[in-house]
Amino acid sequence: MKRTAVLVDRTYLEHENPPGHPERADRIGVLLQALDGAPNMPRVEPHPATLDQIHAVHTKEHVARIAATEGRERTIFDADTQTSPRTYETALLAAGGFLAVLDAILDDRADNGIALVRPPGHHAESNRAMGFCFFNNVAVGARYLQDQHGMERVLIVDWDVHHGNGTQEIFYGDPSVFYVSLHEHPNYPGTGAAEETGGGRGLGTTLNVPLPAGSGDAEYVEAFEQIIEPACRRFAPDFVLISAGFDAHVRDPLASMEMTEAGFVTMSRKLMGIAEACCGGRCAAVLEGGYDLTALRDSVLAVVRELRGDRLPEGVES
Ligand SMILES: [Zn+2]
Repeated sequence: MKRTAVLVDRTYLEHENPPGHPERADRIGVLLQALDGAPNMPRVEPHPATLDQIHAVHTKEHVARIAATEGRERTIFDADTQTSPRTYETALLAAGGFLAVLDAILDDRADNGIALVRPPGHHAESNRAMGFCFFNNVAVGARYLQDQHGMERVLIVDWDVHHGNGTQEIFYGDPSVFYVSLHEHPNYPGTGAAEETGGGRGLGTTLNVPLPAGSGDAEYVEAFEQIIEPACRRFAPDFVLISAGFDAHVRDPLASMEMTEAGFVTMSRKLMGIAEACCGGRCAAVLEGGYDLTALRDSVLAVVRELRGDRLPEGVES
């Protein structure tokens, strides 16, 4: 069995969206209930990312705009994206929480891990908050591995149902970070066409796999096997990062895909296989979307079990 670091913490309840907003504190509430204090898992404490770590992917102006919201009742960035008094602090802890999971793997306290944080990150661009996101947690993690741990090539696979426009924008011209996204198309935010493959020196290290509404486990697994796995193995990453949103689940209210827990498990297994083949199994996931609380909880639990390797034999009901 593998040592899977799972980070989930009450501090992530403190970013507050208006009543009725899908990206709500209860998302972390159900995960705390399901996972906090679970036995046999390395405990990881969140700490805030430093400004230097955030500035590695965001402009100083962007960071200053978010910082200026601290203590203010509400600041509106767009219709979906608003701050509460403790959003800035919580967003620093979200990025820092992912770094804490990476540290646990790098220090050999864990084999792999998952950071269950909010606010999410993959829509946040270098100079723009949008789509519920303020700081791009997975991007901060990728740069941390490169700048502070000497990793050369980082793979980010983003299976959130929405395209991670922010992560794509940050690494579009960078051949050292391979950004791969599967997403419903058309859907928010509208980017992520198959023709978007990177720019300049980064040409070829962005891979978009838009899928039509109604796609489920079979379509995702087919895309993995035919397109994504071979490309990721060719890239030969030093670390595998997952932008793990669970809003492609059939129960999710924000999209029209038909994924189940089994599909997320299969994608996890395939990415762990790539990590085993290329980089000693080093693999870490960070939560993005996922707005049906039951689907979110059950999918996260299934992925954690897969990361740990405590699968039941085929045919055995859990
Ligand atoms: Zn999403």
